[in-house]
Amino acid sequence: MNISFNKPYLTGKEAHYIYDAVFSGKISGNGKYTNKCHEFFAQKYGFKKSLLTTSCTDALEMAAILIDIKEGDEVIIPSYTFVSSANAFVLRGAKIVFADSSALNPNLDIDKIEELITAKTKAIVIVHYGGVAVDMDKLMAIANKNNIFVIEDAAQAIDSYYKNKPLGSIGHLAAFSFHETKNIISGEGGLLVINDSQFEKRAEIIWEKGTNRRAFFRGEVDKYSWVDIGSSYLPSDIIAAFLFAQLENIELIQNKRKFIWNLYNDLLTPLEKNGFIKLPYIPDYATNNAHMFYIVCKTGEQKEKLIARLKDQGILAVFHYLSLHKSPYYEGKHDGRTLPFSDLYSDCLIRLPLYYELTEEEVRYIAKTITDFFQN
Ligand SMILES: *Cc1c(COP(=O)(O)O)cnc(C)c1O
Repeated sequence: MNISFNKPYLTGKEAHYIYDAVFSGKISGNGKYTNKCHEFFAQKYGFKKSLLTTSCTDALEMAAILIDIKEGDEVIIPSYTFVSSANAFVLRGAKIVFADSSALNPNLDIDKIEELITAKTKAIVIVHYGGVAVDMDKLMAIANKNNIFVIEDAAQAIDSYYKNKPLGSIGHLAAFSFHETKNIISGEGGLLVINDSQFEKRAEIIWEKGTNRRAFFRGEVDKYSWVDIGSSYLPSDIIAAFLFAQLENIELIQNKRKFIWNLYNDLLTPLEKNGFIKLPYIPDYATNNAHMFYIVCKTGEQKEKLIARLKDQGILAVFHYLSLHKSPYYEGKHDGRTLPFSDLYSDCLIRLPLYYELTEEEVRYIAKTITDFFQN
């Protein structure tokens, strides 16, 4: 066996739509396929206003500009996340106050948020880790009481829900990723969702290099000019064409991923029952979009041995997220609090292969290899 960690899935229509985009004669951003994608998000998830971006990182940078992050503002962010969740705000001068994960799953611990809020706190960035929702009612209540913006880093959370509300539709702003390691892909790609309507107009301007070009093309202004800061955050329509082929097949992709996820869960449950490992925890208020299947080992040493054993057996499993508060870049700036659960997941969590083309036989083989590791 030779099982890779990830394999991008192609639905078959990508090249066709790209061809169409190329020969339609307009391949810069905000074209036919960009609009098709925006319509899809409006119809399927009720996102009032969404803007495709070249990455989730870019969508987060737009969010930081929109909420007007300035030098000295504080932003609360989980330490156990991808660097972009924090970097987008650091770029605007924010001080990051890192929050710990929960004991139950890698999402940040909402019950420990209030003690981190000061007069300078401007925003909380939450990550729906593995597409599993953070308790948004609790979070929004805290944020509203303290007049703080909530940004959902929904990079992993496409097609997942909190109490029947799509993730990405609850915070003031949300950012999705279509990087090739996510459920729905376009190579590199992302989406900014604007739920707080005060940001709608300005978001379009920031998206198009600080100009009111989009309003110009709608005939709302008679010339377009430089009106604000911004950058080139919109992707070419070629990227949007690829993405649209994926979105059309979202049910198919999600069903297959959920099948694989559930199979892993069933096959590994005996190990959890016997206390060897912990499996993903999904609260009642959350759905599972099968972005990721992970296991949590008892110790870092055990994790390393298991990854090595899997590798010996031809299986590529990986770990991720070295706690950001301990990163070479941020360590000296962190306030010194220990974040034990962030460190726990950083040390002990393993992600297993999960992609459309992974076969049932391969999943059984992976689960058996893990079971043998613990039982012998
Ligand atoms: C993948 C990911 C990102 C970055 O997405 P890009 O589209 O590569 O910029 C940010 N945050 C989280 C939690 C991610 O998983």
